[in-house]
Amino acid sequence: MKYDDLTIQKLRELSILEVADKLGFKLKGLGDEGRKALCPYHDDKHPSLHFSKKKGIFKCFVCGAKGDLFKLVMDDRNCTFPEACEWLINEFHVVVIDNCPADCSATLRSSVEEMKEIKEMSLSENATRSQISAISFISAGPKITSAICPLPSDIVQRSLSVDSVFCQSVVSAGYLSQGQIVSAANRYRLGSSKEGGVIFWEIDAQQQVHTGKIMYYQSDCHRDKQHTPTWVHSLMKSQLPADYELQHCLFGLHLLCPAEMKEIKEMSPLENATRSQISAISAISAGQKIAIVESEKTAVILSEIVKDFIWMSCGGLQMFKPELLAPLVNHKVVVFPDTDETGEAYNAWLTVLQQAAKLYPFKHPLRISNLLEFHATPEQKQRKIDIVDFLFEVPQI
Ligand SMILES: [Zn+2]
Repeated sequence: MKYDDLTIQKLRELSILEVADKLGFKLKGLGDEGRKALCPYHDDKHPSLHFSKKKGIFKCFVCGAKGDLFKLVMDDRNCTFPEACEWLINEFHVVVIDNCPADCSATLRSSVEEMKEIKEMSLSENATRSQISAISFISAGPKITSAICPLPSDIVQRSLSVDSVFCQSVVSAGYLSQGQIVSAANRYRLGSSKEGGVIFWEIDAQQQVHTGKIMYYQSDCHRDKQHTPTWVHSLMKSQLPADYELQHCLFGLHLLCPAEMKEIKEMSPLENATRSQISAISAISAGQKIAIVESEKTAVILSEIVKDFIWMSCGGLQMFKPELLAPLVNHKVVVFPDTDETGEAYNAWLTVLQQAAKLYPFKHPLRISNLLEFHATPEQKQRKIDIVDFLFEVPQI
């Protein structure tokens, strides 16, 4: 794998002393200057390889071998530069920065243009609640993690609808076609409330319903700020079992459930899908590309446009916590923070990724995209745009 300059710069900033220690060098004190160890480049009896803390280099005062931390890793592990980078990333839980080149946003934009040209599907103008419900619903599977007490899954089923102002405005504002919103609403199991709010359900990979967030939108597809969002679990408080304890999960996490598992569930009664069947399937589905964004709206829209990723949302900057990433340890995760004038959101996301990388054994390095930090205009940053705004706004040249 190739790493970009920003990631390599971050690796270069690692302490050569810590790197040497990880490699198994027996370090002896050299005061403030650094440490010394036996030199592996010659037959050394007394430690003559010096590590300079300040300069980040090593040098042998007998045989003259010298270099930086990359050379140290490459020589010690007998590996190439990219392999040394990969080892450092894994050992030091470094978050990889996806430095999106200018042509990358052009590619994404062209998928948006392509999508706009797609003719309306022959789906009727008003896909009804029953049409959506007809698409078979996967109810709660056997619990793999027993930590949560899920909400009854039939409330999701009963809420399914594209009648919310959100679903209507995604189409009228030109983000998606009617066919696309029906498809996205079905995948994300979007519901609608009596007052026209959209319900973004939080359903995990075992298809357990954690809660739902009811949000209100205006006909221009912007949030209705007069109408505060509410949570389904708090509305249902009196009906919930005493042991119900809210634990958030990513919006869209249920999409990890692979097609094969859905087939098993449809073929045989649910009870027959055994734990081992499910773990076998989880292994097949490992290594999927997951993109995480702040808002549910962004995840829903981009899921129809950039299909190489499974799009998930944390529901807000304050909601993004390391534990939300725990179910994704086997997958390739990239996050797309919103932007702002000071880089606050970007830095907050980066901090959470760094915490998660230390807490959980990710098989692939966590990645953060700096697309917006690099390519959004000052005016766009002031408006705190996200990746959907960026892709749909005509570039000012
Ligand atoms: Zn030497």
